[in-house]
Amino acid sequence: MIKGHYIADPWKIIEKGFHSQNVKASESLFSLGNGFMGQRNNFEENYSGDHFQGSYIGGVYYPDKTRVGWWKNGYPEFFAKVLNAPSWIGIDLTINGLQLDLNQCSKVEHFERELDMQTGLYKRSFIATLSDQNKIRVTATRFLSMESPSLGVIHYQIEALGAACELQLASTVSGAVKNEDTNWDDPFWQHSDVILENNFIGLRSQTLKSNFDVLTFAKTSLLNHKGEPEHQSATHAQNDAVLSSHLTYQLAPGKTVTILKFGGYVKVDGQSNKEARDLAKQVVDQAQAKGYQKLVEEQKAAWAAIWQRADITIKGDVEAQQAIRFNIFQLNQTYTGKDSSLNIGPKGFTGEKYGGSTYWDTEAYCLPFYLATQPQQVALNLLTYRYNQLPQAIANATKLGFSKGAALYPMVTMNGEECHNEWEITFEEIHRNTAIAFAIFNYERYTGDASYTLSKGLEVLIAIARFWQQRVSFSQPKQQYVILGVTGPNEYENNVNNNWYTNYGAKWCLNYAAKTFEKLQEKDAQQATQIAQKIDLNLDEVNSWKATAKNLYLPYDADKKIYLQQDGFLEKELLTVAELSAEERPINQHWSWDRILRSPYIKQADVLQGFYFFESDFSKESLQHNFEFYEPFTVHESSLSPCIHAILAARLGKMEAAYAFYLRTARLDLDDYNREVHEGLHITSMAGTWLSVVEGFGGMRVKDGVLHFKPQLPSVWEALQFKINFRGHVIGVQIDPKGITLDNPSEIPVVVEH
Ligand code: BGC
Repeated sequence: MIKGHYIADPWKIIEKGFHSQNVKASESLFSLGNGFMGQRNNFEENYSGDHFQGSYIGGVYYPDKTRVGWWKNGYPEFFAKVLNAPSWIGIDLTINGLQLDLNQCSKVEHFERELDMQTGLYKRSFIATLSDQNKIRVTATRFLSMESPSLGVIHYQIEALGAACELQLASTVSGAVKNEDTNWDDPFWQHSDVILENNFIGLRSQTLKSNFDVLTFAKTSLLNHKGEPEHQSATHAQNDAVLSSHLTYQLAPGKTVTILKFGGYVKVDGQSNKEARDLAKQVVDQAQAKGYQKLVEEQKAAWAAIWQRADITIKGDVEAQQAIRFNIFQLNQTYTGKDSSLNIGPKGFTGEKYGGSTYWDTEAYCLPFYLATQPQQVALNLLTYRYNQLPQAIANATKLGFSKGAALYPMVTMNGEECHNEWEITFEEIHRNTAIAFAIFNYERYTGDASYTLSKGLEVLIAIARFWQQRVSFSQPKQQYVILGVTGPNEYENNVNNNWYTNYGAKWCLNYAAKTFEKLQEKDAQQATQIAQKIDLNLDEVNSWKATAKNLYLPYDADKKIYLQQDGFLEKELLTVAELSAEERPINQHWSWDRILRSPYIKQADVLQGFYFFESDFSKESLQHNFEFYEPFTVHESSLSPCIHAILAARLGKMEAAYAFYLRTARLDLDDYNREVHEGLHITSMAGTWLSVVEGFGGMRVKDGVLHFKPQLPSVWEALQFKINFRGHVIGVQIDPKGITLDNPSEIPVVVEH
């Protein structure tokens, strides 16, 4: 990607000028989504240059083979691959017999893309000179409706700038799609029904093995230069899985014609072909009845409602402003909380690496964002997602040799089953269980609502406690419980003993599960007995968790006053990141794995992640010792890292460092720090960016049911304003060098400590 190519603007992502080497990066950055579906921003018209076609439907995956020669017992049977779904956006244009293809035109001028985050509308315009020197201007708007999640809208206007044009257009639905990361050349889809009815076309497709059943549809119409519909019936073509409706139009010089295309997907599991067609028709009929303008208005209103709850304004720093809105925008495009079977994939709908699968990222990073910016039900849906997958987490632990209802949640999942197959992560990165338990605590801490914790949440907590209770072992030399053979959040260390973060998390989970059960006994003895009977729990077991937690080993170095990332960490050759040359970074692209494992370099917050989660358990002094020790070894080669360091640096008053970490997390994709934006965006770390503003610079915490603020702004910021949704109120917070102003527009008072 060309540096500085995207123009800084408070509300918009803007690209000016056509550069074929930037197409893939822009396809990621201008991605669109509405929670139900999403797409990389591919061109509508045919494009023969290098690009990455991508259109995805939430939760639709293919169980790809995990073919490895080095099979280990306990490996998952499949890897959930997020699937490229049939594409409905295609508008192939031939102008006086020449195909419009920006890669083949004589000239492309005034090329501009603009994603307006305030309204959710994406616009692209350009003037193309074709090889016969005829010129046209294209001005296209596209959006995926937030109001009607199955619907996408394209308004594609062509103006004849030179001679008269005979336009031939083929509006397509293409099932000829494959994944960019296809490993085995397996087909993923089979197609079972084709609709070619006038200008309405559709393709019904099922995923192989996973049996998702989807109808991709499109309805295309033409509007003349006065915006009036041109009643033309279309002819059709079908070329294998590519369907098209064909229209022609004689465009006079200086005049415009608009192609209006409604397209999208409906999920049609178990429906007859007629029912499926009717469902898709209903979506387009409703759209048609509303008309383009009304749909645009609805889209604007839906985004206005999101910003009303979630906007952040930063005065005096347009790059920081643009970045935080970009992060908030993308998170809302990815997950709307309407469906508790969906979750937030690290790349959302913007790419295939890490797929749309669920990681611990959701609980550790995303949950607080949705808690504070959406109605409570949205965060509750995220918790319910894990509750619904508890049976699979228990089955996963059972497969690994655990018993009695112990659960190990998967590192990567779509349907609750583990989908990751690198032993050092699948079997060893078990700290993910802690994030899932912590999210339950976090939800109650923020909302004050204990009802989930004391019902479904408790079942999850007990299953997790049972896992830790069985995973520890008793060390005779130490006379303490230890946890051997793990990978912490820092994946640049594998198979280590006593990763402090893992041990501390296990201790916390054991205590929290016991405390929660005891709380339920006090509050509602009958329900406690019911749960205990359901899962065969007795008090001896609860007491055994407390005993283990009390005697769980936590590696500590008294001289340096730091917790040790793992046993033996100080025996490494402790060279700092500053001593690495620029050519060696990122080390994961330049060093052998062996060298990385032996080095002291830390991929992402590990001990410091513990200081972030369990902040109130540690003094500021202890944080300072640990931060100052570990930060110099941290390479931040996970997008999830700088945000945690930003929050902790702000807590320590290291504002310059906090700001540098903030920019790195917030503009990670816009400035392509990791040189991989063409693969997709880092969606889950965007929630970390939000955390770094609200918890880092805003200093927001909830303690004992009370909101606390301890704001500190970076020196370049004149003011910071954000909104949070707290216990039924949308509270406005404004911070500037003079102080903090809080706005509670409701009648009901909120207690706040500053
Ligand atoms: C990180 C994990 C994270 C995953 C998905 C990895 O690079 O190390 O912590 O869960 O990416 O975001």
